[in-house]
Order: sequence, then structure tokens, then C-alpha cells
Amino acid sequence: MSVLVYTESDNGQFKKAALEVASYAKAVANQLGTTVTAVSINASDTSVLRNYGVDKVLHVKDTTLNNFNANSFASIISQAAQQEGSEVVVVSSTADSRYLAPLLAVNLNAGYASNVVDAPSSTAPFTVKRTAFTNKAFNYSTINTTNKIVGVSSNAFGLVESSGNATEEAFAPNLPESGVTVESLDKATDKVSIADADIVVSAGRGLKGPEHWGMVEELADVLGAATACSKPVSDLGWRPHSEHVGQTGKPVASNLYIAIGISGAIQHLAGINASKVKVVINTDPEAPFFKAADYGVVGDAFEVVPQLIEKLKQF
Ligand code: FAD
Repeated sequence: MSVLVYTESDNGQFKKAALEVASYAKAVANQLGTTVTAVSINASDTSVLRNYGVDKVLHVKDTTLNNFNANSFASIISQAAQQEGSEVVVVSSTADSRYLAPLLAVNLNAGYASNVVDAPSSTAPFTVKRTAFTNKAFNYSTINTTNKIVGVSSNAFGLVESSGNATEEAFAPNLPESGVTVESLDKATDKVSIADADIVVSAGRGLKGPEHWGMVEELADVLGAATACSKPVSDLGWRPHSEHVGQTGKPVASNLYIAIGISGAIQHLAGINASKVKVVINTDPEAPFFKAADYGVVGDAFEVVPQLIEKLKQF
């Protein structure tokens, strides 16, 4: 009856979100008086999970699973939950896990709560705090089914270190042979991913053209941040679609979100509202983003950003 957590990895390395959901699973396990079992697929070293309270790791090693495949991964996690008798399955809110969670809910006949930001306020009934209305409000949702899928928002619960054994067991589930699959084909880069980033530097149409993204990348490098962009910027082909954030793009829940030359349309804000501190640089003092921002600079990005980079380099 242990709490099951899917710990995502990328090129063999655990994502930060994996360690965060392990921390979350440990908090739930403590409330339920049970242990934590992690499902890991092709991670190179699972020992780090013991620092986040994981007691057992079911490790699937299969090179055909190097790329995310929603059906196969959902099948693996479902079989692990059935083997362990887990009623609570915890996943993150990366793009991959958002694909997985509904499939898991179907496979396990489970209720699914997404956008969860805190440990359960009660385990009987199982009640969790979630963001609602594109992060403008919170609500408490009760999952009444026996099996429960909990999708935890990035950077909401945080990393909480606690000891676990993380004993590793090889896990060789049956993989589905056919069916419609959703595959993630993120290109491997050495850049910080938007989902894992503490800081995101994002830019919009105010930058006028792709040739001006050098300063955005430089600012991101200085800060150790991920780069992102508004929808029109990726639609115009100035930046890859993988950087598009907002309601129809990737969600961002970073500790710091810097928006350069982005007006702050509601569809953009919907995806980045969960970020803790928002900073805006915009020439137009009436830009809607200023109403949502914690700090704002009314100024020309082409003057402000280079000065900011210079100052930051002095630290
Ligand atoms: P603009 O609105 O053109 O704003 C550019 C800003 O740059 C302006 O505020 C301007 O004052 C400022 N600026 C100009 N020059 C400078 C300078 N030199 N220095 C500093 N600032 C400058 N958008 C998203 O981003 N993500 C989504 O997921 C998304 N989903 C959508 C879904 C739907 C169904 C629809 C209808 C729209 C969606 N949009 C989305 C589009 C959204 O409505 C806006 O059109 C878009 O966010 C605007 O992008 P922008 O801020 O980069 O460009």
C-alpha cells in the first residue's frame, strides 16, 4: 500500500520535478503511515532518491523507452501501482506527466487532481489544495475514488530532504504493442528546461525580431535561467515552439519570471501566474503586465537589458 511516485528523468538524470514529487509523496506517506515507492525509467543512478524519502525504486531499464511514450509509460506506472497495491500515485506537472495522468486515471479507475500545491489537508476524505482559474485562486478538491492520481505543480511544494532506503528492484512490465501514442520529442540541449528552471527569462514581440535574442540568452546565461517566449514569437518562427509559454504553451511556475517586451495578455498570464516573483520590462507604462507584476521597469529593453546584464556580471 505504499505511495507510488513517478520520478521523471531526462537523458538518465532526474528532473528537479522528480525530486519535488518524491518529497511530496513522502509527505503523503507520512500522513498515511506508509512508505514511498518510485518508478524510474532509464535513470543512470537512482541513489539520489533516498535523500527525498523514497524507500524502494522499481527501475525499468529498456532502451526502447529512451523517448517518452505516453501509452507505454502509463502502462508501466499502472502495472507498478497494481503490483505495489498503491492507491495514491503522485506525478509532476511537466508536459509529459500531464499527458500521463489522465491515462493513469483510466487504467487505474482513479480520480485525478491536477495543479496540487500542498500536502493533503486530509487523507480521509482525501482532500488537496489546488490552483484554479489559471492560478488566480485556490480550491480544495476531494478525490472520492479508491485510487487517486495527484499531479503536483512545479515549485509549489519544494524539495524536502528526508531519508529513505531507495533499494532498487528491476522492474520488467509488459509493454503495450499497439495503439495511439503521444510521444515527446524534446530536443536534448544543455540548456535549463522551462519546467525545471528556478528562473525564466521570457521575451515577446517587443524585441522586434529573432536577431535580438542574443541579449535574452545572455541574461539567461548570467542568471542560470531558462529562456521562454510569447506565442506570437514562436508562431513567427523567431523562437522554437518548445519555448512558447502561456495558456496554450508550457506552464511556468518558476521562482522568478522576467518578461521582456511582453504585453501581458490574459492568455500569456494564464500560463505564468504561478511564478512567485514577476518582473516586467516594457516601454508602455499601460501594458497590462504591470498590473500582474511584482516589479516593473518602464523602459526600452534594448537599453535596460544590456545594463542589467552588466550589473549582474559584477556579482
Ligand atoms: P504584443 O502584444 O505585440 O506586445 C509586445 C509588447 O512589447 C508591448 O507591450 C510593447 O509595449 C512592448 N515593447 C515594444 N517595444 C519594446 C521595447 N523596445 N522594449 C520593451 N518593450 C517593448 N500568448 C502567449 O504568450 N501564450 C499563449 O499561450 C497564448 N495563447 C493564446 C490562446 C488564444 C486562444 C489566443 C486567442 C491568444 C493566445 N495568445 C497567447 C496570444 C495573446 O493574446 C497575445 O496576443 C500575445 O501574448 C502577445 O504577445 P506579445 O506580448 O509578445 O506581443
